[in-house]
Amino acid sequence: MAVSGKQHFERFHKVKQFDVTGKKLLIPDMSPFASRLLAASFRAVGVNALIMETYKGLALGKEFTSGKECFPCQVTLGDILYYLRGEKERLGASFSPDNYVYFLPEADGPCRFGMYNKMQRLVLDRFEEFRDVPITYVSTRNSYSAVDIMPPEAASIFRRLTYLVIIIADVFDRIVWRVRPYELRPGLTDSFMEKALGAVVAEVEQNGASLEFQRLFAIVEDAASTAKTFIDSRQPRRPLIGIIGEIYVRTHPESNQNIVRVLEGFGAEVVVASVAEWINYITYDIAREQKRHLKLALLKLDFASLRGNLKDLISTQIEKYYQMWRQSQVYRRALKHLDIHKDHGIADLEKRLNRNRLFSFDIGTESALSIGAALEQLHAGYNGVVNIFPFTCMPSAVCTAVLKPLLNKMRMPYIDAPYDGAIQPNREIALRTFVYQAKQHLDSRTSGNGNGKATKCHIKQ
Ligand code: SF4
Repeated sequence: MAVSGKQHFERFHKVKQFDVTGKKLLIPDMSPFASRLLAASFRAVGVNALIMETYKGLALGKEFTSGKECFPCQVTLGDILYYLRGEKERLGASFSPDNYVYFLPEADGPCRFGMYNKMQRLVLDRFEEFRDVPITYVSTRNSYSAVDIMPPEAASIFRRLTYLVIIIADVFDRIVWRVRPYELRPGLTDSFMEKALGAVVAEVEQNGASLEFQRLFAIVEDAASTAKTFIDSRQPRRPLIGIIGEIYVRTHPESNQNIVRVLEGFGAEVVVASVAEWINYITYDIAREQKRHLKLALLKLDFASLRGNLKDLISTQIEKYYQMWRQSQVYRRALKHLDIHKDHGIADLEKRLNRNRLFSFDIGTESALSIGAALEQLHAGYNGVVNIFPFTCMPSAVCTAVLKPLLNKMRMPYIDAPYDGAIQPNREIALRTFVYQAKQHLDSRTSGNGNGKATKCHIKQ
């Protein structure tokens, strides 16, 4: 029976926020450390969350999309279909859709990410047995607050705990990227960090809800100091590559065909833009918007709105400074033992964009972050930049248009790496050549002949 447009919109109401306490929450995989720690945070506050097996259902994701959707939408759709089909096969007649809740966050604004969960609702509805699997979400609209999907007290704990574990996940990633290219024995770093992740997961599940973080800090310190002993100090430092781009594909190794390991295999040291970058940006951007409203209310002498605007801004600024404080607290613990690469502040990215006037936070989207991050990397002495994105991603196309000529002028090796699940036969040779250029960039800097230096031009540093 044909489904009318009105019925479609009615189904969208089934993408909703409700209390998920005690439910089996299905989370699509993204960044390996961050996803597992996010699920542990949910479990700490009584939500039975799990990370679904990933990428095995890509064929399903492609089968039930038209090909015009963003690649992360196809991957996550494949993950949920693959998981639910597996459960249906395993449980047979006792499969009950009410036992599951599919969790797919969304973003406000011009990007298609805000529509993934609605579109996936329509696909799940095509299967009689999956029609009643609810989809829930958190949104950038209120800075990913969980207040609409769990009781307020649990939401407040979850928020602080999740932010901390995301930073720990970023630091763990940075430990791996700093040590693995120089490790004494292949596999040493990965197997040790997997155990360290297990220790963090156990601690978060058992004691995370108390918001006592001393034991977590101790695990971070231990991970950094032990991992440092894996470095073969006789190995020369490699060219440093910064990865920027769309957050899902750049942090999901299956979607980006393990580009970090590929680059390491060609002789690079790699740092990927952090997961916290996006969360910090959301808070930062909300504060920007609130400042704008405050200014407008002042100009109009609208004192009724002024008080509310001021209250909102103060609360967001507190959140922003809390995030900065927590982030530096965790990084400091690791930096005591190992020189991992620090993360950049969002305000620094905005300053870089404003200085160069090539892009603006007013335009928003991930382009602002990626362009700003590439400029930061240039300034911090990186030897090359890779822009990873889903094929046809809108903000990434903007980012490419700005960065390619700019970094070319600055003699900074740069490469675009679009992904859509297909194997590109020439990608390997392109990446190998790129790492060779980055090595030349490093050599020219260390030999001081200036060829690879960020030479003087109209781009301000
Ligand atoms: S950022 Fe790119 S991949 Fe993500 S929703 Fe927007 S267009 Fe799609």
